[in-house]
Amino acid sequence: MKKTLLATLLLAAFAAHAATPTFDPQRLSQHVKVLSSDAFEGREPHTAGETKTVDYLVEQFKAAGAQPGGDIADGKRGWTQEVPLGRFQIQGPVALSVQAGKDKLAWTQGEQMAVRASMNGKPLVDFKNAPLVFAGYGVTAPERKWDDFKGQDLKGKLAIVLINDPDFETGAGEFGGKAMTYYGRWTYKYEEMARRGALGTIIVHETAPASYGWATVKNSNTNVMYDIVRKDPAKSHAPMEAWIQRDAAADLFKRAGLDFEAAKKQAQSRDFKPVPLAGVTLSARYAVDAQVIKSRNVVALIPGSERADETIIYSGHWDHLGVGAPDAKGDKIYNGAVDNGTGMAALIELARAYAQGPAPKRSVVFLAVTAEEKGLLGSEYYAANPVYPLEKTVGVINLDALSPHGPSRNFTISGSAKLDLLDLLVAKARQRNQAYAADPKPEAGYFFRSDHFSFAKRGVPALSFGSGEDWVAGGTAAGKAEEESYTKDRYHQPADEWNAKWPFTGMASDLELLYGLGRDLADSRDWPNWGKDSEFRVLREASASKR
Ligand SMILES: [Zn+2]
Repeated sequence: MKKTLLATLLLAAFAAHAATPTFDPQRLSQHVKVLSSDAFEGREPHTAGETKTVDYLVEQFKAAGAQPGGDIADGKRGWTQEVPLGRFQIQGPVALSVQAGKDKLAWTQGEQMAVRASMNGKPLVDFKNAPLVFAGYGVTAPERKWDDFKGQDLKGKLAIVLINDPDFETGAGEFGGKAMTYYGRWTYKYEEMARRGALGTIIVHETAPASYGWATVKNSNTNVMYDIVRKDPAKSHAPMEAWIQRDAAADLFKRAGLDFEAAKKQAQSRDFKPVPLAGVTLSARYAVDAQVIKSRNVVALIPGSERADETIIYSGHWDHLGVGAPDAKGDKIYNGAVDNGTGMAALIELARAYAQGPAPKRSVVFLAVTAEEKGLLGSEYYAANPVYPLEKTVGVINLDALSPHGPSRNFTISGSAKLDLLDLLVAKARQRNQAYAADPKPEAGYFFRSDHFSFAKRGVPALSFGSGEDWVAGGTAAGKAEEESYTKDRYHQPADEWNAKWPFTGMASDLELLYGLGRDLADSRDWPNWGKDSEFRVLREASASKR
């Protein structure tokens, strides 16, 4: 960003300083209490819990003074955007067998491989003796002059690829060293192989570069799958999408006369060429049941007074995991108080602050999306079918799982990314004596695991705010201890419940900061961008002429 842009925005910030609203911790607590109560049944999309949640959000946005900002019906905007979702489930057994020379190996779903229900729109996956090709990290990155395919045709073939990006192990190179770029995410690998018309993608699981163990891979991939409803699903999904355990993969390499570790080393260089696994093939057969379910995003709006067609979006997901397996106490309701009752409370109260203040020059949108827990689908649907054009969306500030505790001396964002939006937030926080703490584990790819990413990958500047761990009362020791106990004992468990002792004063304070950032953007004419070497900058610049 040019110095002048920052200076202009900071000046605007000083001018507006007197008008910074305050946020009521009691109101925040009350929203979280209601949304995470047992009556809301864990807020799973397409259940009675969804109806209650959407009704509550609409009623609260209305009471806060916002306007409906969703789909237009009969010439009038409503409060929601319809989100049709595809639900895919494997029916019956998954037959998997390897032919290697004279040996035939029968494999078991969830053991050697974890195969997802296919989402390409076909009810049956059935192929025999498909050739396997090792395609390195499965990356085509023209801006980094990197191409793992070198013209290799993948039609009718299964691509075996490595997780994370080529410089994860070496720690230095074209892909940001240890930190993960989008090329390292499994979603990218699936998308890239679909673009290349492969029969399938088989990702080799290794715990360090994946950042989670095989159990996570197995549980999430052998479960029910969801996707947005696509016009041409085969363009986004190859017939087979799967993971393979590292040792099972190494065995296949060995049977093809290759050494897995040596092949991996080669894949870490630009000169790598795809390697066929000679004499080894895979056969598979499984049926898939596909249904379409309906869910909704809730969209509230504060219209801009001067440039209403330009928007700032505050987003967060309303959904959680619903009713599921009981915990040790027999509790089956996954209440989702922190994840993401807190984000919803923040959206409602931000809307109130904007409604009570002077009208912003640009429009401000409060987007409560569905199906984040099913793979960022509500935000993906919005970004693929935007109610307000993406090229005129100035920036997205996502709020997911905020701290209900006391104030912190710092804040963070999910993942490591370089963008003007973050520079502005850092500068604004500094005025409040709040420091920016970078994501301590950027290699885990958190940047790609929150709803702001659905916007980022289309070039819209977007970040996901995270509460800080350096607490005013108790310092980092207290903040870290709480974070660890949340991750271990409550995250994605029935115990993520509202607590009467939570003060919500930290969130109230952080909302002043986040209001300030959005307000500056809303009252300015600037278009913040991505950093120079960001893979999203090209996309943003491609739509610059439309502003
Ligand atoms: Zn979650």
